[in-house]
Amino acid sequence: MKVFHGREQGALSDHRTATFTGTVWADPVMPATDNVTINDVFFSPGGRTYWHTHEQGQVLQVTAGKGWICQEGHAPQEIRTGDVVWIGPHERHWHGAAEGSFMIHTATSIGKTMWAEAVADKDYPSTKD
Ligand code: MN
Repeated sequence: MKVFHGREQGALSDHRTATFTGTVWADPVMPATDNVTINDVFFSPGGRTYWHTHEQGQVLQVTAGKGWICQEGHAPQEIRTGDVVWIGPHERHWHGAAEGSFMIHTATSIGKTMWAEAVADKDYPSTKD
């Protein structure tokens, strides 16, 4: 057992650029421990991840705003405050904020994250409501 006190001294928010489109910041909640990592992720409107998979899955808890989650081969699904998403191992997907809203989610990632290419603008929903 280990207790992680919030905002441990020296913990810094991470401006995510390499595998994200738009302005996205991640705030550490629990550093990688027994293959589990937890981050709060802040997406500006239209900000989103690249396509990716999680080795052993991921839980997203949307804590503010509205956005999108998309599994490859399926239409994007709207997610909003209070929604919880389970992404299974190796399911190729992306997630991000709607164009008209920021979105914050707590991401609990299990195992490694494997990053691929950016989500094309044409594949990103353009609704602003
Ligand atoms: Mn993910």
